[in-house]
Amino acid sequence: MNTDSTFKYNTLFGPVPSRRLGISLGVDLVPHKTCSLDCVYCECGATTHLTLKRKEYVAVDRVKNELVTYLSRDEKIDYITFSGSGEPTLNEGIGDVIHFLKSDYPQYKVALLTNSTLFDQPEVRRQIKDVDVIMASLDAATEPQFMQVNRPHPELDLSSIIDGITLFRKMFSGRLLMEYFLVNGCNDSIQELAKLKKILRRIDADGVLLNTLDRPGTEAWVQPTGPKRLKDISDFLEGAEIVKYTSAPPETAVRGEDLMARLVSTVRRRPYTAQDVSRIIGLDVESVQPVLDQLVASNQLALKQMDRGCFYMASQARRPC
Ligand code: SF4
Repeated sequence: MNTDSTFKYNTLFGPVPSRRLGISLGVDLVPHKTCSLDCVYCECGATTHLTLKRKEYVAVDRVKNELVTYLSRDEKIDYITFSGSGEPTLNEGIGDVIHFLKSDYPQYKVALLTNSTLFDQPEVRRQIKDVDVIMASLDAATEPQFMQVNRPHPELDLSSIIDGITLFRKMFSGRLLMEYFLVNGCNDSIQELAKLKKILRRIDADGVLLNTLDRPGTEAWVQPTGPKRLKDISDFLEGAEIVKYTSAPPETAVRGEDLMARLVSTVRRRPYTAQDVSRIIGLDVESVQPVLDQLVASNQLALKQMDRGCFYMASQARRPC
């Protein structure tokens, strides 16, 4: 198998299976780690471009061309999802891409994973209001925890972000899910969670998701929250859903050169174990492991030993975009 493949898609990755979104094709609208936050738990590594500047980081025409090519294959996809290794709403062309998908590909639903920091901008709210599902992060109820967990751009303040989310909720007819990422000893005190509960009531989203570390975070001191504590916090937050990862159905399994391209485009954006990759790709570990090892040998991926196993991730030389 040729491991020095030139990848047809630079802005698309996956598709990956998701409990809420089914089979989801990822669209990455910004270069690696271009973000308004530098979260301690980020699975994509430290933010290298901390910014609030909106611009066409990745050309809209390029994204549209890749989508046209990919979607001509007529594969089973349930959602096209703006996500990746930075903040998608920083691309000022996001509204244009959403409009293109809604008018030319109405058969696919569109989702957005966002850190919520630009919701206070009316233009951002207007551009994203037509997507079907938004999973929006909010990891703190108070400014000190916001600084500690999210290490924001200096011009951001938490109360404006919460006001922005609340305003957006009122104009958004799609499904809004708020996600809270628990960082042990930082944003999980009873005082913080009580304040969060009030904020979540005010936002009035369609659901709340509770997440914790599953892959290597940016800071080594960030540890996952145990299942018992997760359950207690879920109950305290009136039944917040604990995030679980799911497997690809057998019909979406990919082989040959497609497997190579899909592995690299997906793993370059966030770290996975061989077992994770097997689950995502829909092939057994014995088929996936040698391909991953070849990609490490050819310096297209790197390997890191963690408590939960060996994680494959982007090598410095092969960051996307
Ligand atoms: S977790 Fe998301 S919002 Fe936080 S630094 Fe990483 S990409 Fe940015």
